Parts: sequence; C-alpha cells; structure tokens
Amino acid sequence: MAPEQEGVVKFTAEHSAGPLPHGRFGALARELAAWREILARLGLVGQDAARYGGAGFGNVSGRVGPFPGAPGARSFLVTGTQTGGLSCMALEHFCVVTRWDVARNRVASHGPALPSSESMTHGALYDLGPHIRFVLHAHTPLVWRRAARLRLPTTAPAVAYGTPAMAEEVRRLARETPLLERRALAMGGHEDGIIVFGRTAAEAGEAMTSLVAAAYALQFDEAGRLCR
Ligand SMILES: [Zn+2]
Repeated sequence: MAPEQEGVVKFTAEHSAGPLPHGRFGALARELAAWREILARLGLVGQDAARYGGAGFGNVSGRVGPFPGAPGARSFLVTGTQTGGLSCMALEHFCVVTRWDVARNRVASHGPALPSSESMTHGALYDLGPHIRFVLHAHTPLVWRRAARLRLPTTAPAVAYGTPAMAEEVRRLARETPLLERRALAMGGHEDGIIVFGRTAAEAGEAMTSLVAAAYALQFDEAGRLCR
C-alpha cells in the first residue's frame, strides 16, 4: 500500500470563516494548547521536513458545552489544518466543528481556521459516548511500531484516516477490543498515528504519556538498555 499523504482533507467541509469569541472558547483553547505544547515538546506534534513530506502533524480537540446531553454538547473545538508546526498557538488557530456526518463524509465548522484533516476521526471518537470530552492525535514511531506488543487496539491498515471507513473502524474497535478502557488506539494505515481520549484533557494526555513510557520500557527490553 502506498503511504498516504499527511494532512490532506478528505471530507467535504462547509466552513464559515470568522472569529471565535474568547469568552466562550478561550478556556478550552487554553487547555488544549497546554497539552498540545507538551506533545510538541515530546516530538509527537509538529512539522519536520524529513517526515510525512514536510506536512504538519498532530491535532487536538475538546468537546464544547456543558457535560452530556445539554445543547451544544455535540460540537468540538479543534486545532486548524496544518497548524502542527506552529510554535505559538492562539484562538485564531482553532475552529469549532458543529456537525459531522460520517455516512455522507461531511463536516461543518466555523472559526478563524479550517478544521484539521482528522476532524472526522475526532468526531467518530466523540460519537462513542458523551463521556469522551477530549481527543488528542499524535505521531510517534516509538509507540506505533510497538502497537502489537503494547496490545493497543489498532485500526485495519487498509483504512485511511479522515474517512467514513475510519469512523466505522473506530466503532468496531469499541465493540471488539478494550478500546474504551485503554483510551488509546493505533491507526494501522496512518504511519505513526496514535489517538487517545478522555473525560478530561489530563486523562487523555496521560493516556498518551503512559503509552510513550510503556514503549520506552519495551525499547529497554529489546536492547538491554535505553539510550537517548
Ligand atoms: Zn495524522
């Protein structure tokens, strides 16, 4: 299978451009930017001329609105497309995804930035349950190459990111694997792609950092030592 191009939007996007009010979205953007910064410092979010054809990689989102059931709960704030390489994040680099239709492969959004190419995949995770409030997508060869040894639920290699098939694959993993307990999956057909989620940003972030630690522990086993 040919390696897929990172960062290409594969769904139909209906986007209306405009600013996001700081009063409504500032606190959530701050929380997302903080965890994105941690992931960037670990090399899990970024942009590198030597990786993925130089495209930005990694994106983060959080559900908008009060806890389950309330109006507005079915929308999420997500980092914009091709923001992986930015060293400064502000509200202008986010947008709100207000509707996603997996079957019709459409995403509706508004805000100053266009939605991440992974927005459909984030939506598929949120559809698993109202307790899922944060989704982080990162790229880590360290973890991805050890997904089987880490017993990480893994999407089928033939399934491309950001497609209806990926959304169906996420639902299959939720039915057939301990996905909801692990709060993490590897994207089999998306090189180095890992997704974690949680009730809080910290729960999602810790799912990622715990995976990185488990992968380093395996690296120690493989080589009898661990070197930087
Ligand atoms: Zn990706």
